[in-house]
Amino acid sequence: ERSRLSRLRHTPAVTLDARKIELLANIELPDDAATALAAGAVGVGLFRSEFMFMGRHGDLPDEEEQYRAYRRAVQGMQGLPVTIRTVDVGADKPLDELHRAAAHLNPALGLRAIRWSLSDPAMFLTQLRAILRAAAHGKVNMLIPMLAHVREIRQTLALVETARAELDQRGQAHGPVNLGAMIEIPAAALTLKIFLKYFDFLSIGTNDLIQYTLAIDRADESVAHLYDPCHPAVLRLVSETIAECNAQGKPVSVCGEMAGDPAMTRLLLGLGLRSFSMHPTQILAVKQEVLRADTERLRPWARQVLEAEEPDLLLEVGSAAPTTRL
Ligand code: PEP
Ligand code: MG
Repeated sequence: ERSRLSRLRHTPAVTLDARKIELLANIELPDDAATALAAGAVGVGLFRSEFMFMGRHGDLPDEEEQYRAYRRAVQGMQGLPVTIRTVDVGADKPLDELHRAAAHLNPALGLRAIRWSLSDPAMFLTQLRAILRAAAHGKVNMLIPMLAHVREIRQTLALVETARAELDQRGQAHGPVNLGAMIEIPAAALTLKIFLKYFDFLSIGTNDLIQYTLAIDRADESVAHLYDPCHPAVLRLVSETIAECNAQGKPVSVCGEMAGDPAMTRLLLGLGLRSFSMHPTQILAVKQEVLRADTERLRPWARQVLEAEEPDLLLEVGSAAPTTRL
């Protein structure tokens, strides 16, 4: 199966009805860029920068260390775009034991991701400068995790401007970035117009969107059976986000695990998604689904799935989903 799939590595991801689909990689370390390229990714849709921050016992990476790491990822992608997400520590990704111990009763609802960054502007500015400097070496998008409030959006955008002004003052090279927001809190999906106003692109983080929509801890085994990507509420938030972005011509992708699950590919295509970011090992399997798909025929079927009480039953193998087997 693997070797059969590997034939697809250099095949463009185009549907039967000639829609070009963007298949991007999620990476955690700069050297993963090589893995992404080898898997046939056309860019990095999510570089989880927090892995550089974790397990360091108190000291955080300084601007030079971060700049070198981001530049390494950008150069590793050889001209393809790299979406660097600002640090998303907390909850399932504690910085270190100290941080874990300091976490409150509901760490997933606490000081994580952009909340943590905004709580220490000097630390956040260090990361923003490093990303802007790396953007001088290739196409860089900057992605902000876990936003919910317009106040957080404004603070973040103001700090990006401050970081740029500081680099100008130093006379240090930096490049342009597209700015994007993760849609991973239901409140963000439900106030999408605000996000569309402030950002160049959006990326749907289904891992957290499922967690927060269904009130299911994504790391708690005892409720894992209720962590359901196909819950009608989750599908509605995903679908409406894609539809609103498409209506405004705003780039949108999905970068949660849902994007790398071949069983979900036809549904996401039917909902209008054209950009998927996933673990590199999933790219060829998803591409195979893309090559078999006809988005025009999937559209009405996807609408039926959205209306179903138990949408997962319609996604099962051998279901009536319109496909053409290769
Ligand atoms: C997500 O929440 O879907 C996501 C991609 O971010 P992470 O898994 O790193 O929280
Ligand atoms: Mg997330």
